[in-house]
Amino acid sequence: MNILVINCGSSSLKFQVIDAETEKLLAKGLCERIGMDGASITYENKVSNSGKEVNETPMPDHKKAVSLVLEALTNEKTGVIGSLDEIGAVGHRIVHGGEKFTSSVIITDDVIEAIKEVSDLAPLHNPANLIGIDACKALMPGTPMVAVFDTAFHQTMPEKAYMYAVPLSYYKDYKVRRYGFHGTSHSYVSKKAAEIAGKPYESLKTIVCHLGNGASVSAVCGGKCVDTSMGLTPLEGLIMGTRSGDLDPAIVEFIAGKEGKTAAEVVSVLNKKSGVFALSNELSSDFRDLEKGCNNGDHYAQLAVDAFAYRVAKYIGAYTAAMNGVDVIAFTAGIGENSPFVREKVLGYLGYLGIKLDKEENEKRADVLRISTKDSAVAVYSIATNEELAIARETYALTK
Ligand code: ADP
Repeated sequence: MNILVINCGSSSLKFQVIDAETEKLLAKGLCERIGMDGASITYENKVSNSGKEVNETPMPDHKKAVSLVLEALTNEKTGVIGSLDEIGAVGHRIVHGGEKFTSSVIITDDVIEAIKEVSDLAPLHNPANLIGIDACKALMPGTPMVAVFDTAFHQTMPEKAYMYAVPLSYYKDYKVRRYGFHGTSHSYVSKKAAEIAGKPYESLKTIVCHLGNGASVSAVCGGKCVDTSMGLTPLEGLIMGTRSGDLDPAIVEFIAGKEGKTAAEVVSVLNKKSGVFALSNELSSDFRDLEKGCNNGDHYAQLAVDAFAYRVAKYIGAYTAAMNGVDVIAFTAGIGENSPFVREKVLGYLGYLGIKLDKEENEKRADVLRISTKDSAVAVYSIATNEELAIARETYALTK
């Protein structure tokens, strides 16, 4: 069965078609600048491996984007399927499932209503995800669809981990609590780590460091997430590309007063103009540029990378305490998979756990690497995440 995986943003739409039985990627692509000038669709047929095709074409809305995706997939020359009947189900990435969704679900009208109800928790993401669902529903009526939530994997956290120490009414009235994000990735990578370690998932204490432009850490004990660094929104936790991560919340009012800004304006700065971008004196939010800066002796690039790695190491320490130990640490996402420099910096803080870095392995690039030595007390891996495959698996499991 072929699964179409859709990840819909406010002005973009990423897609993949995966054969669920063989788990082979058949096609992938991206629609950008939906609803704006200069919209384009990038499409790659992964069966013929004929490379990327980029077409600039007007896309006034997401429905048009989805119809262009379906056209590309069924195109006589470059398509990977003969007709839309060959798509057995559609899997949608949904950012926020609130407390309602603890696992993936088949999309029904009730599910759509429930996703709408929690939209105030993710005002930029959930409405865009819903538009993607609507567009697919209109163009492929009758094809089952599944919602896979970024928050679902974290719903096993105990109360002591997800409650903020603020008046209880904030939780009771407004559902203010830690939700966590990147759940699909944390779930996929923690399972893969157990597979590589050759140990039952349920027997392991694992810490997953998802280090991309957005970054989060999770503690997975006995196959269940027990804590994660992102909170009500993705702003909490690690220092990220442009997000501050943890800070004293009083800074919001302080800066608002100093600069005549509203709280919303300051929070926007914390989301979009902070993180390693700010610490590097606005050199870049991209670690490739920051590493170059470090090598050239740029003080602020060094500060940004040092502060980033220090924060990751502190979270690993905290989660080791939370689980009373750790068996496996897995690095994943853009930085976690591609930056030996950052991995070495983080592990440099963790000698007390008996972790020994295999420097040679750490310099390699592969979907799976064991970067700790055989006699390291904790197994440390770099594992390529694959959120789309995880979404396809969930979708297949519910619709086959
Ligand atoms: P997201 O999905 O959150 O946008 P990714 O997981 O794709 O992010 O990670 C993107 C980030 O990964 C880039 O901003 C960059 O910082 C980092 N990155 C990608 N490739 C490399 C590399 N070769 N070396 C160091 N960092 C890299």
